[in-house]
Amino acid sequence: MLDLGCGECRLLQLLVQDSTFHEIVGLDVSPAALKRAEKRLHLDRLPSSHAGRLRLLHGSLTYRDRRLQGYDAAAIVEVLEHLDRSRLASFERVVFEFTRPPLVIVTTPNVESNPRFVGLADGRLRNPDHQFEWTRNEFSAWAHDVSLRFGYQVRIEGVGPTDPLVGSPTQMGVFMRNGS
Ligand code: SAH
Repeated sequence: MLDLGCGECRLLQLLVQDSTFHEIVGLDVSPAALKRAEKRLHLDRLPSSHAGRLRLLHGSLTYRDRRLQGYDAAAIVEVLEHLDRSRLASFERVVFEFTRPPLVIVTTPNVESNPRFVGLADGRLRNPDHQFEWTRNEFSAWAHDVSLRFGYQVRIEGVGPTDPLVGSPTQMGVFMRNGS
């Protein structure tokens, strides 16, 4: 299982406790985030049953990386919107063409729900590092286009409570590789 753009690796912290996951890899472009992740995961003090299953890698999702090949699934949680739009095409190829795991889960904020957050009613994005935030239609169009081009089927879901007008705070695409 890959956690790509793992940040402080909160997801890995949960996955490592579940023996279903034999090999778990977190990757991030930020050395500072990986340092914090090492502390959070107590990598130096993990019992050997856990430590051998877990690896943290420094790298970028906009460059092909052989270390990411051969895994069953990749989670890319609230990362897409941090990429410069001009790098999106590289990201798509790295994840869906070169790494190409059978299952890819991508989440990104649903910008339509921003007015429901205190302080975001004026059109501001959720985080100063976000390069863009998508409506449900924009995300769905992107996800279906990527699926078609790279040979996946996608299911879109909301994450968090659903508001009848603006939907859920976050949206998720579950991509399954054709023929897997
Ligand atoms: N997935 C984590 C962190 C989300 S914050 C969570 O849900 O908690 C976004 C993360 O994406 C940051 O840690 C940032 O360093 C990372 N990131 C941004 N651009 C990246 C890139 N090109 N390659 C890999 N990671 C990247």
